[in-house]
Amino acid sequence: MSHDVKNIMVILSSVSGVGKTTITKKIQQKYQSFKISVSHTTRKPRPNEVDGVDYHFVTKEKFKKLIDDGKFYEHAKIFDNFYGTHKDSVDKMIKKNDIIFDIDWQGTKQLSKFKNLELIKIYLIPPSKKELKNRLIKRNQDSLDEVERRFEAFDNDIKHWKDYDYIIINENLENCYKQVEKIISKHKNIFKASQITV
Ligand code: 5GP
Repeated sequence: MSHDVKNIMVILSSVSGVGKTTITKKIQQKYQSFKISVSHTTRKPRPNEVDGVDYHFVTKEKFKKLIDDGKFYEHAKIFDNFYGTHKDSVDKMIKKNDIIFDIDWQGTKQLSKFKNLELIKIYLIPPSKKELKNRLIKRNQDSLDEVERRFEAFDNDIKHWKDYDYIIINENLENCYKQVEKIISKHKNIFKASQITV
């Protein structure tokens, strides 16, 4: 028997260094139906990042033109760079796939205004500020100045937790992933058949 299961949109937000990217990738690997929304950004690519895969890397001029042409569902300025979610790619993707958005609280607020988008909003928090700093330093992706800036953004960022449907403390990546998976399964009804008791 086939179920008429609706495609879902999941937002995963957190400050950098809480494990969002890893969790997002794990979900996509396990559930083929999920695609990651690839944002546009004016940030410079990091050494391992690929244009069109991690982000669409564009100039500030191009980004501004996309804003002026009304091409974004949402866009935000974060640490001197711009990030945005392109309407066309989301509209196309949702017809066939579930979508995960790795976006910040500003984008979450803007996306929430579109009543046609059914969103599941998840906010991940680190177990402590000390642990966050350790993780930011350990992942070694940014300069120490950048690490400091990202760390300092935490106090402002966490103020917006109330805009989310679920809050998860990422003490341990595997447990955190399992909780995200549980939320997704609940909404997607992925395990519907196995839950039926006779
Ligand atoms: P990073 O520079 O570390 O890749 O990302 C910095 C922040 O930008 C992260 O919190 C990430 O969630 C957020 N971000 C990435 N893409 C978008 C987007 O399209 N819109 C918004 N609002 N935030 C984004």
